[in-house]
Amino acid sequence: MKPNCSRRDFLAAGLALPAAGLRTSSDSSLPLAVGQAKPESARLDYRMLGKTGLKVTSLAFGCMTTSDPSVIERAADFGINHFDTARVYQNGNNERMVGAALKKVRPKVIISSKSAGKTKQEVLADLDTSLRELGTDYLDIWYLHMKNEPEQVTEDLLEAQRLAKQNGKIRFAGVSTHFNMDRMLEHLAKLGQTDVVLTTYNFAMRSVDAGANTNPDAPKTDMTAAIRAARKAGLGIVVMKTLAGGVARVQRGDRLYGANPQALSTRLGQEGVPVAAIRCALKNESVDTAIVCMTSHDQFEENVRAMAEPYTEKDEKLLTAQLVDIGPKYCRMCGACGGVCEKGIPVPDVLRFLTYAEGYGQFALGREQFLKLGPEVAVVRCADCEHCTVQCPYGVQVAPRLRRAQELFA
Ligand code: SF4
Ligand code: SF4
Repeated sequence: MKPNCSRRDFLAAGLALPAAGLRTSSDSSLPLAVGQAKPESARLDYRMLGKTGLKVTSLAFGCMTTSDPSVIERAADFGINHFDTARVYQNGNNERMVGAALKKVRPKVIISSKSAGKTKQEVLADLDTSLRELGTDYLDIWYLHMKNEPEQVTEDLLEAQRLAKQNGKIRFAGVSTHFNMDRMLEHLAKLGQTDVVLTTYNFAMRSVDAGANTNPDAPKTDMTAAIRAARKAGLGIVVMKTLAGGVARVQRGDRLYGANPQALSTRLGQEGVPVAAIRCALKNESVDTAIVCMTSHDQFEENVRAMAEPYTEKDEKLLTAQLVDIGPKYCRMCGACGGVCEKGIPVPDVLRFLTYAEGYGQFALGREQFLKLGPEVAVVRCADCEHCTVQCPYGVQVAPRLRRAQELFA
């Protein structure tokens, strides 16, 4: 059976899916934090990261939104061995916290960071800052951050990665991509200069995958196949945005906020959606690890279960219902709308920033990113347009969502 995320395959596969997911595993007990209950089951699952020789846990810890270092420490104690940060996260403060939390276990863990610099000098300066802030003398993976067009991966930046490798400051070179991902995966595989790619990939992309989309106007992008081809070409595949916009916080109807997402999802009969979403991504055997942002011990306890059990029919039902809920809101970053509207708004970017606020509960991060787009974008009001010219083939309600972003951020 093809382990992709197409709806037809999901429905047909049901409980036959387990064998595709787990590769190797070993039981482990979950260390308890103060006041935490012990999960009934949790164990580690490992996969090889492309050709790097690194054996990573299939659940990786995304540190971008974490403010409590004890959650990171606990994950490392449990055996999660891959932690992801970036120079720019939390206004440059995230690496300091991650480094402090992982100090005692540094040789045992795989740390990745990123630079969004545009020149060799900028990224190499960022790298030195990252090493200093993290309190380490090497990064396991160093990504060129947010490269969404092949032209953005310049020879200058690749030269910086080669230099960093020669100097022992990084072990492996990576590129992260949020947009036009299938094109970028193909380009990077052909270029042959990259060890690891970090790409958006989640269950919502089943509506993007060829053959799974009921909208005849939608582009036939197949991220599952693109990932498989890139992995076959030797790239290590790390996926992010696995929960498709912080799904645990999405409530049925129009309200999006929830003070306690775990309690909220339980109340709404959505218990297990995050775990199902992680299992869905890991069901693609070409995915080496899935980065999930975690901010609390509760979230860690729930998410870590994704490694213990395979994708099930119940997971499929939960995600089908979830997709109905988030369909009009969640941007698949497919690029079909061209990326920028006629008034100059970078539509997928602004929708992503809104997700930071509403889905991840990170308002400051969303506003900070929105304001970085510049005053010429901040002054545009969708309410001034008689008709929106952006047509999303996946049914994202672009103008209402952007009006919400302008109300919150501008
Ligand atoms: S708004 Fe729609 S068309 Fe544009 S990138 Fe997002 S999902 Fe694709
Ligand atoms: S409604 Fe908003 S997104 Fe649509 S064209 Fe006008 S400014 Fe652009």
